[in-house]
Amino acid sequence: MMYCEEAISLMPACLEADLGSKAPAFQEHIRICSSCRRKLKELEESRLLLSRQRDQAYNAPRGLVQDVLVRLERERAIRSNRTFALQVVGWSVLILSAIHIVFYRVFVAIGDRNRHHP
Ligand SMILES: [Zn+2]
Repeated sequence: MMYCEEAISLMPACLEADLGSKAPAFQEHIRICSSCRRKLKELEESRLLLSRQRDQAYNAPRGLVQDVLVRLERERAIRSNRTFALQVVGWSVLILSAIHIVFYRVFVAIGDRNRHHP
């Protein structure tokens, strides 16, 4: 059983959907206590109003910043993909030339042996 004091102290967490294990007791208190239910509703409404005003005030610059951040992130992802592709190509070339050298040596050795011991 939760008391009004605790329920009221948990209201901000409730609005953030951050109640954790206290959620059931809190919900139960809100269900049975009309005073806290009213308080929670008021708090919710005032927060909604506040966040709406804040959104209107900062919407343009925030959108711009987000846009730039998204673009930077995309750019970075493309660049690291390119680096990865270059690394793959580099390693392929290295491995192929290593195989080439090995085969070349083998052929030369075979050729030498054939020449010396026909
Ligand atoms: Zn209450």
